[in-house]
Amino acid sequence: AVQHNGGNAVCFYTPEMAAAATRRMLLTMHLTHAIERNELRLVYQPIVDKAGQVRSAEALLRWEHHALGPVSPGEFIPVAEESGLIVPITDWVLSTAVAQMAVWEADGVLPDRVFLNISGQQFLRGNLTLRLEELLGEHPSLRSHLGLEITEQAAVRDLKVAVRTLGELADLGIQAAIDDFGSGYSSLSYVQQLPVAKLKIDRAFVIDVPENPKSNALVRAAVGMAHGLGLTTVAEGVETAEQRDFLVSVGCDLMQGYLFGRPMPPEALADMVRSQAAPAIA
Ligand code: C2E
Ligand code: MG
Ligand code: MG
Ligand code: MG
Repeated sequence: AVQHNGGNAVCFYTPEMAAAATRRMLLTMHLTHAIERNELRLVYQPIVDKAGQVRSAEALLRWEHHALGPVSPGEFIPVAEESGLIVPITDWVLSTAVAQMAVWEADGVLPDRVFLNISGQQFLRGNLTLRLEELLGEHPSLRSHLGLEITEQAAVRDLKVAVRTLGELADLGIQAAIDDFGSGYSSLSYVQQLPVAKLKIDRAFVIDVPENPKSNALVRAAVGMAHGLGLTTVAEGVETAEQRDFLVSVGCDLMQGYLFGRPMPPEALADMVRSQAAPAIA
């Protein structure tokens, strides 16, 4: 097979491309059985405020196949989207997270918000609102604790549907966040039209602060713009104290990254919440 890349460049079908296609087929085949075989689980990463207190958490999906070993979501989510398996997988994520939140609530360790990642396809096509209404029907108190992360690309792909869906979710009490802000090509005018509460600044910018003046300017501008629009900012991928100090100095509201905690099992997050909730004794 021959592919034209534009111009005079011609690119042949390489062994690497064949291997990648085989890998995708293999993953699709195994992913089909992942739910019934109990291979999926959710881990939770803390999101902290300027004082380092856990305020929210992000649920991140993990898949471990007995023979393939752990497969990263960066690899299997696109496969799930291509194959349509994202539909049952998202449903599993929603119901698993809501069940977990009910347990945390009963134990008194539920964070203010628990954010779930929703793929663009599910967000734009699925009957997400209906499904969430159904799930939360049994746990009405959890509505004001649920958040959804969607990428700016997904929101911008169909602005009309995005605005409507986000409005419906907001009516339910569910908060929305724009994930990976700055990683796409969307303009700020789009964000301004979206009924979202949070803006998550992509790790690609955070990684370069405070050494790179351009990244500093971008992060500062994103925080300023978000605040101007009444949005809260979350910085992703915070790994160093220098990054944290810079982010605090420009007024970034919340931070997430290995510096504060890696994605962890639900019991570990509960321990973190519990330990900081303990009254300070002088
Ligand atoms: P994301 O939503 O932007 O998630 C943040 C990713 O950054 C996570 O990778 C997390 O482990 C990683 N991360 C957090 N802090 C740090 C840090 O300080 N340094 C570094 N180097 N990385 C950090 P993960 O878990 O591999 O997830 C990758 C992506 O897969 C997510 O990006 C999200 O787009 C997608 N994803 C994960 N879970 C789900 C899910 O349940 N549904 C959907 N649709 N997508 C998911
Ligand atoms: Mg996310
Ligand atoms: Mg993100
Ligand atoms: Mg990201």
